[in-house]
Amino acid sequence: MSIDSHRTSYDEGHALFRRVIRRFLNEHLVPNIERWEELGVPDRSFWRQAGAAGILGVFVPEEYGGPGGDFLYRVLLAEELGYCPAGSSVGGSLEIDQMAAYILAVGTEEQKRKWLPAIVSGEVILAIAMTEPNAGSDLQAIRTKAVHDGEDYIINGTKTYITSGAIADLILVACKTDPTKGAAGISMIMVEADTVGFSRGKPLKKMGMKASDTTELFFVDVRVPRTNILGEEGAGFKLMMSELPKERYNIAARALGTAYAAYEITLGFVKDRTAFGKKIFDFQNTQFVLADIKTDLAVGTAFFDSCLSEMAAGIFDNERSAMAKLWLTEMEARVVDQCVQLHGGAGYMDEYPISKLYTAARIHRIYGGTSEIMRMAIGRTL
Ligand SMILES: Cc1cc2nc3c(=O)[nH]c(=O)nc-3n(C[C@H](O)[C@H](O)[C@H](O)COP(=O)(O)OP(=O)(O)OC[C@H]3O[C@@H](n4cnc5c(N)ncnc54)[C@H](O)[C@@H]3O)c2cc1C
Repeated sequence: MSIDSHRTSYDEGHALFRRVIRRFLNEHLVPNIERWEELGVPDRSFWRQAGAAGILGVFVPEEYGGPGGDFLYRVLLAEELGYCPAGSSVGGSLEIDQMAAYILAVGTEEQKRKWLPAIVSGEVILAIAMTEPNAGSDLQAIRTKAVHDGEDYIINGTKTYITSGAIADLILVACKTDPTKGAAGISMIMVEADTVGFSRGKPLKKMGMKASDTTELFFVDVRVPRTNILGEEGAGFKLMMSELPKERYNIAARALGTAYAAYEITLGFVKDRTAFGKKIFDFQNTQFVLADIKTDLAVGTAFFDSCLSEMAAGIFDNERSAMAKLWLTEMEARVVDQCVQLHGGAGYMDEYPISKLYTAARIHRIYGGTSEIMRMAIGRTL
């Protein structure tokens, strides 16, 4: 059983694309990962190489410079980034191209023509800035404000934990345009990184995903034209809620990829290492643990494939995407933990890929909405 066998929703085109991604990661990511982990951020050239290889913004239609693939192509990138231990370390960062979906969904013709081709080619790196020091799960509590000043908005506020914040050229910023209206007072405004008053902190130090930068962003009297609004004023919260299922499916896909990688790496390890005169694999406990993991993978893949067939039909359901993110990231957590255990002390050492998978996996239950927020989303449908 492997991640690319017996998949019921991917076709030949998807299978071919999986091989393209795998080759790309092996050629351009694996040789650089240790340096990028030390720097805390990949080289910008990585995006241009990814663009040239055709793996960014794969869902963007041809008229805006993309290949016009279905969303399953995008999900494949997430699966493969999870499956490649170096990919799990950089994942969130390269995956930020998915935010092009916001521009595609509600951008004006001019915004789409200006930004989408540059995102697909890797010339422009995106970030999405929702979270603030005092508002994460509770997005309605954000304080960053955008007020009218003639034909402009003036933005003030602080964002934190922003993926690719250190290198982004264009930031989609969730702002309060009318603080009296709660969710209906939130708007999404695009800020170019060279705008006066915008600045960024250093990449924050994290337990894992060390080659994906996570940064604080500061907005002090940042003036942008009112035409930088994405969608209608006051419709930012609705936009986030309608686009979040895609992000959640991508995180679920990464979790599935990581769980497969952990299983395969561990199977190889236990068949090689000996204790008490036997291979670790030969202990019944080892086989029971791996049998449970294999079953988890089979169950998770079957559910995820059913979600993929909905995505292929253009259905991005809030409840199902929450279920996929909740179950697959919790399954991944069980799997990577058990796999570290089967490695013994080696599992705690960075030089063993299982260690990288373990620390990268921890964030999957937190960002894009925590497991608790997923349970709340599912709970609302009861
Ligand atoms: C590596 C990394 C990358 C990130 N990238 C981005 C990014 O690019 N853009 C961006 O905007 N944000 C990003 N984030 C932020 C991320 O989305 C938030 O950290 C996440 O949504 C949780 O918010 P919080 O940290 O404020 O936790 P809190 O909301 O303070 O939650 C703390 C705990 O309380 C629980 N909790 C909260 N509310 C409830 C409730 N109603 N019922 C039960 N339990 C509850 C949570 O589940 C959690 O366990 C990133 C974070 C990290 C660590």
